Amino acid sequence: MNKFIAIVGMCGSGKSVVSDEFVKRGYHFFRFGQITLDYIKQKGLEPNESTQKQVRESFREKHGMGAYAILNLPHIEELLKRGNVIGDGLYSWSEYKILKEKFSDKLIIVAVYTPPNLRYERISKRKPNINDIQLRNHSFSIEEAKSRDFSEIENIEKGGPIAMADYLIINDATIDILKLNTKKIINQIEGKKYTRPSWEEYFMELTRTVGKRGTCDRGRSGCIIIKNKKILATGYVGSPRGLEHCDEIGHQFKSVTHEDGTTTNHCVRTTHAEQNAICQAAENGISIKGATIYCKMEPCSVCAKMIINSGITKVVCEKRYHSAQDSRDMFKKADIDLEVLNDEIESYEKQ
Ligand SMILES: [Zn+2]
Ligand SMILES: [Zn+2]
Repeated sequence: MNKFIAIVGMCGSGKSVVSDEFVKRGYHFFRFGQITLDYIKQKGLEPNESTQKQVRESFREKHGMGAYAILNLPHIEELLKRGNVIGDGLYSWSEYKILKEKFSDKLIIVAVYTPPNLRYERISKRKPNINDIQLRNHSFSIEEAKSRDFSEIENIEKGGPIAMADYLIINDATIDILKLNTKKIINQIEGKKYTRPSWEEYFMELTRTVGKRGTCDRGRSGCIIIKNKKILATGYVGSPRGLEHCDEIGHQFKSVTHEDGTTTNHCVRTTHAEQNAICQAAENGISIKGATIYCKMEPCSVCAKMIINSGITKVVCEKRYHSAQDSRDMFKKADIDLEVLNDEIESYEKQ
């Protein structure tokens, strides 16, 4: 029996990341709201947000609050003949009732919940794209996002599908944790008992664990050095051995003024995670030539220089570092492969 998964969640909750994981597993994708865009295109209307709102209202005037279920039914049935289906953006209680009556056990609701402040932050960071009429690519100010939210929360119709969700994903960490949690749910839906992490997920998880030993809360970075899928060394941010830690006596700040006039603040009390891992390898006489280093965020310029000279050839980072342009330039020139898994910038106080 082919399954029909419908994703529900507020704006900015991460629905598209969840949908993408289903698509990677061969699910046929459709967006509930696509019919709005198709209609606008077909009628040659101006594809802005107010037109979209008008079209949505006209659909609901004609078909009731279940309009997007009714109008998508033929398409969903067609897709279900071909395989499993994933629908992004289930919106109302009325839609849910219509779909549940029609598809019964085939329908599985997956809700994505993200705390409001995180969503506002993400929504306001989205890059606006005027030519793209899909709302997901528009950016809002935090105030606009909040007011959208309130109008949605007031809508009792919206609560229905979330309350009836078969699976709930809490998305309050990084994108790769969201992806991993989604994979686990897909496996549960498909009756698989265990989700084995990929090599990359395994090394990144270890990197996070190592970072928990860090003693400077500005990033609390960790890293591991890998060769042939084996761990050669680990490191986390902290003061040199025997010296007092930031967590005990506070940071030791230096502010740096750049050519463009901007100033960045750095804590100089610590040896960085990458430096500590390289030192650990040196202490134990282990060559890290040709190895890969997994880091919590992009290395600073000092770490970048040490990485280059230690013979490491690949750098994998979970997130971006706010002051990493010099490192990126050096890696490029030194022919070091830099991979950043998540485009978000790691944030902490007084950057
Ligand atoms: Zn510190
Ligand atoms: Zn560093």
